[in-house]
Amino acid sequence: MRYISFTDDPVTPPDEIFMKEALREAEKALEQDEVPIGAVIVSKGKIIGRGHNLTERLNDVTAHAEMQAFTAAAGYLGGKYLKDCTLYVTIEPCVMCAGASYWTQISRIVYGAEDEKRGFSKINSIITHPKTEITAGVMQQECATLIKDFFLKKRK
Ligand SMILES: [Zn+2]
Repeated sequence: MRYISFTDDPVTPPDEIFMKEALREAEKALEQDEVPIGAVIVSKGKIIGRGHNLTERLNDVTAHAEMQAFTAAAGYLGGKYLKDCTLYVTIEPCVMCAGASYWTQISRIVYGAEDEKRGFSKINSIITHPKTEITAGVMQQECATLIKDFFLKKRK
């Protein structure tokens, strides 16, 4: 596959490629009537972990998309640290997931839409690892629409 890159780096695929994959994970959650949030973890241009929100199915308030993806990626790598990895997640991580990302020492977090109420950046923006680079607002519209529609339907 050839990637069209928006950066000067011809090797690194643009963030939108992987955010689309995170959105596909969010759609899997939606199909199961879960809050539609999805995540993927990428290492050297390859997806090594995927996850979507499973809090209803697992009866587990900690079963957020990011937590699933961290576990999957660590399993793939055979080690708990996710150095040189990027987390793509459709919605801004909560404090729990941002806190978990600290322990993984992940290199980068890219998220789509902000979470005004529970997003870590509003509550504690220094909770992530000092080495973790944050990029916000990638495919923001698509990520936000999915979750807004979900809650609109819930209220009807
Ligand atoms: Zn979370």
